[in-house]
Amino acid sequence: MLGFCKYIFVTGGVTSSLGKGIVSASLAKLLQARGYSVTIQKLDPYINIDPGTLNPYEHGEVYVTEDGAETDLDLGHYERFLNVPTSQANNVTTGRIYETVIRKERNGEYGGKTVQVIPHITDEIKRRIKILGESGKYHVVLTEIGGTVGDIESLPYIEAVRQLKYELGDNNSIVVHLTLVPYLASAGELKTKPTQHSVKLLLESGVQPDILVCRTSHKLPQEVRAKIAQFCNLKVSAVIESRDAETIYDVPLLMKKEQLDIVTLEKLNLPFGSEPNLTEWKSFLHKLKNPTEEVKIGLVGKYVELKDAYKSINEALIHAGAYHECKVNIIDIHSEDLNDENIERVLSEVQGILVAPGFGQRGIEGKIKAVQYAREHKIPFLGICLGMQMATIEFARNVLGFKEANSTEFDKKSPYPVIDMMESQKAVTQLGGTMRLGAYPCKILPNTKAFELYHSELISERHRHRYEFNNQFKEEFEKNGIIFSGINPDNQLIEILEYPENPFFVGVQFHPEYKSTVENPHPLFMGFVKAVMEYNHQ
Ligand code: GLN
Repeated sequence: MLGFCKYIFVTGGVTSSLGKGIVSASLAKLLQARGYSVTIQKLDPYINIDPGTLNPYEHGEVYVTEDGAETDLDLGHYERFLNVPTSQANNVTTGRIYETVIRKERNGEYGGKTVQVIPHITDEIKRRIKILGESGKYHVVLTEIGGTVGDIESLPYIEAVRQLKYELGDNNSIVVHLTLVPYLASAGELKTKPTQHSVKLLLESGVQPDILVCRTSHKLPQEVRAKIAQFCNLKVSAVIESRDAETIYDVPLLMKKEQLDIVTLEKLNLPFGSEPNLTEWKSFLHKLKNPTEEVKIGLVGKYVELKDAYKSINEALIHAGAYHECKVNIIDIHSEDLNDENIERVLSEVQGILVAPGFGQRGIEGKIKAVQYAREHKIPFLGICLGMQMATIEFARNVLGFKEANSTEFDKKSPYPVIDMMESQKAVTQLGGTMRLGAYPCKILPNTKAFELYHSELISERHRHRYEFNNQFKEEFEKNGIIFSGINPDNQLIEILEYPENPFFVGVQFHPEYKSTVENPHPLFMGFVKAVMEYNHQ
């Protein structure tokens, strides 16, 4: 039990997509590097209970925590920056808040009162924020409020922040407001008016920000800072510049230069002691920026045009690349567009092929072709979740000769259902939160690629799927050279398959990308990138 807990609320103004998640993660990183125990929470003002049922085009990747919550992709940034797992409690949506309040109302817990946004919804928001603080595990809880100040959906959250700030008292909580200071090329000037307006909006809700982080493409001159400070009731030192960065991993250092951590600690009345320890972070950045070679990895997926759809995979490849001092260029390959005419042209360009996770029929034949190309040309291959299932189907069709092999997700009547729905899933009718989710143990077979990479007989990885390898076909695959090197010890589900005929051909039913962090790049991605580099040297 730690002796105290302070709260930081991060709000956003002017426009969405300012990078609140990265600024939050960066501030948390700096506090952690000064010895504080920190966690980050995201409050999302939409009505879905969680983003699990959202199409990636709507909301990017769904991130999965150890305890099986389907969450906003910002939690991935929090874990990658802090190297500490998050949980269900770190992501709360309006849907979740209302669900709780309505259930309590049905149970008669409000004693006949009229149930209202204030106090009942705001009380539930405050309770969800304080749960983390009261756990006794953190010195600082940083809560990022999704959306933009002024949105109808955000109002109850801002009101909850106002109440909490008052209740917690001075120096126990602060509000960091992120805004945009646009550069008008025609006038050759940085404009402060949007920031002024956005702070006015916050003030209308009774919230005075303590720190302003100004996103800008240009340097903020002293007089611009002074102007913002004057209009927003702040000291100039509390106006922080946040310039566009070369990589998101630069942001903690940029924020340190601006002394965001020091201003924060001063306002929270916490000692800042010695310099933050960022040795590992800096060594990662140095390797990231000074690669000694370059490779191309084809990411075969159906949402590749959307930047955020495979966020964790992209970042995991960056971490593994930096580890090997190798720049990994990710070539996005739309699985739907892959066909017999273009496959050679497209895939002969890359030195590694990663087939991505996914749901539904669209683009699966292209994924199967990509696996076949990787297998036949001995190009390093990593298949994740649906990617592993595609590798299974490809092998069944083209090596075992089961031409109609398929997953029952796509063909319920296949005579060779090599991928089938898990028994436990067959009775499930509801969509949200009902897949096999979160961390499960996996036993690793010695003398395999998986063992060579993990150096461990028992690992734990996170899952998000309904279908699995059909163990009825296990022997047939084994007779033809597939090794099932990772198996769930409790129910015998296949978690890893590999094909030792090729230097690197690995399919995993779980999602290793969720566990890769700056300080702990994931062994599978490290192994994959190393194999890609070796292929490149041939
Ligand atoms: N659609 C597949 C399943 O449900 C794969 C899921 C995934 O790739 N995350 O099993």
